Amino acid sequence: MRVLLVEDEPKMLGALRQGLEESHYAVDAADNGIDGLHWALNFSYDLLILDVMLPGMDGCALCAEVRRRHITTPVLMLTARDAIDDRVRGLDSGADDYLTKPFAFRELLARVRALTRRETMQKSPVLVVGDLTLDTLTRRAQRAGVTIDLSTREYALLELLMRHPNQVFTRAVIAEHLWNYDAAPDSNVIDVYIRFLRRKIDDGHEEKILRTVRGTGYQLVTPDHD
Ligand code: CA
Repeated sequence: MRVLLVEDEPKMLGALRQGLEESHYAVDAADNGIDGLHWALNFSYDLLILDVMLPGMDGCALCAEVRRRHITTPVLMLTARDAIDDRVRGLDSGADDYLTKPFAFRELLARVRALTRRETMQKSPVLVVGDLTLDTLTRRAQRAGVTIDLSTREYALLELLMRHPNQVFTRAVIAEHLWNYDAAPDSNVIDVYIRFLRRKIDDGHEEKILRTVRGTGYQLVTPDHD
């Protein structure tokens, strides 16, 4: 999943970026509101994390502008302690949740998971497609009860496909969700990861669930799909 992080405090930005990347998220970062708005309007994200106090344009104004352009991506605001006005303004500007500084990184991760889950109407942290399960909390994948070891990128790819079963993903859309701007891959790189993933989840199983849709892309199919 791809996250836009807008935070002007360099240490905070660096720590959050590193933590999110270690947790398998692709991250684009901006240190001011103007650049943040540019990123938010021109690229597609699974989540926006916005500090409230930002140079150029504050996080609430940024959020309001994003919503005015009909972008419905979940927004998590980072607010200062005791700044009730900021929290109210953030929620009123269209943010979905807020986190008060200072916070524990694992709380941020929990809120990120909850917000991205809400987007796909999934209440459980365990994604299920047929006999394949993916626990987004422990990051453990299993097919028919057998644990599958996944690399960071394979995990992110599987999570994306499992959140939207039967949906056909083009290589471009997969790239957009899994890589940040600086690391955008060639489309043949996507094919390579699909091949790795297919080997891990489909080899040895009669029912092949990771399908190639010729000329379009890839999909993960549910048992009732023909
Ligand atoms: Ca700030």
